Amino acid sequence: MREVILLKLGEIALKGLNRRSFEEIMMKNIRRRLSSAGEFSVTAKQSTIYVEPLDDSADMDLAEERCAKVFGAVGYTRAGAAEKELVKIQEKAAEYLRDELELAETFKVECKRSDKKFPLKSPEIATEAGAYLLEKYPHLRVDVHNPDVTVWVEVREEFAFIHSDAKPGAGGLPVGCGGKAAVLISGGLDSPVAAWSMAKRGVELTAIHFSSPPYTSELAHDKVVRLLRRVSEYAGRIKLITVELTHLQQEIRDHCPEELGTVILRRYMLRAAQALAEDEGCLALITGESLGQVASQTIQAIACTDAVVGMPVFRPLIGSDKAEIVKIARKIDTYDISIEPYEDCCTIFTPKHPRTKPSLEMVERGEGAIEGGALLKEALENVETIHINAYEDTER
Ligand code: ATP
Ligand code: MG
Repeated sequence: MREVILLKLGEIALKGLNRRSFEEIMMKNIRRRLSSAGEFSVTAKQSTIYVEPLDDSADMDLAEERCAKVFGAVGYTRAGAAEKELVKIQEKAAEYLRDELELAETFKVECKRSDKKFPLKSPEIATEAGAYLLEKYPHLRVDVHNPDVTVWVEVREEFAFIHSDAKPGAGGLPVGCGGKAAVLISGGLDSPVAAWSMAKRGVELTAIHFSSPPYTSELAHDKVVRLLRRVSEYAGRIKLITVELTHLQQEIRDHCPEELGTVILRRYMLRAAQALAEDEGCLALITGESLGQVASQTIQAIACTDAVVGMPVFRPLIGSDKAEIVKIARKIDTYDISIEPYEDCCTIFTPKHPRTKPSLEMVERGEGAIEGGALLKEALENVETIHINAYEDTER
């Protein structure tokens, strides 16, 4: 073993009795994610997950890129493995971090020794390794407060690992620790970010998308698929269920009070989503709503929408500004896809003057003008399902 990837566990390390099962879930997520990057072994010890290539076909750059997006890690780093002898550790440090040490002016060595049987204590290892590096790289100076490079030596059970500072990990909790929820996904900016935010808290995602052909196109659906592929780089495999709402939308347009059209449509969306979510074993719904962003996202409108659901509706962006949402969308690479201009079913037949403060009574009365139940049933009987995984082909 020459080189490994170390992932430092975040919140999981504090999970007491659940810790082991959370680690297992995280390791399973990593294995699945690396299955198309070569042969790796993935093991956990002392708040660290070790990703070790098993042969030369293992693509370490690709593995590192994928590990950077695994929820549950506060940090990750590639590390050189040295046999547990002082000389080998010294040589490895000089060789493994050569590029960084040649560019640096100052450095320090930090040592962590979890193998208490190793004959030298941490400060001694650090001092000895530091002296060796100063001899090898005479241009260097030691700066313990603000060094250009920190050389970490971790003396563990089988090997000593050498690395520089770890990079920030994806954070959060491993996907699967937090149960399953269904995200209502449009092609817009907000819902992919909402999906990512909940996956970050360990939630496994099922996605539900509403289309309205011929008013919405196949391209709009394809956009949603591409967005979910990006989200799945973090969230893992996502099942996407597409539901056609054309008839329901036409009925609402033709028979319900125009200014309540959007709220009524949203109530049907949530009813449909809840029915599908229950079938899928999901315990909550997720939307990309942000308070006050549009007429259907006022407190009053949200109260009217929520009145039809009997499970929690998570709105992780409810207190976020557009600029904050855009920042995450850029970070997770959904922004460029989201801004492509395709019609969403929410943007067809939109009322000119939607009511921003509807009352539940008013909405229920307006809704009474249509036989929505039968249309909802029809829509739910004709759904299309695909599985999306960033690292595999999309399966129908
Ligand atoms: P987004 O950017 O996510 O589209 P938005 O600001 O455009 O959100 P709305 O169109 O009012 O707001 O939608 C609010 C939320 O309703 C979305 O974040 C999403 O969760 C859900 N939603 C909207 N349109 C659809 C759709 N076609 N299919 C599934 N869910 C949808
Ligand atoms: Mg939208």
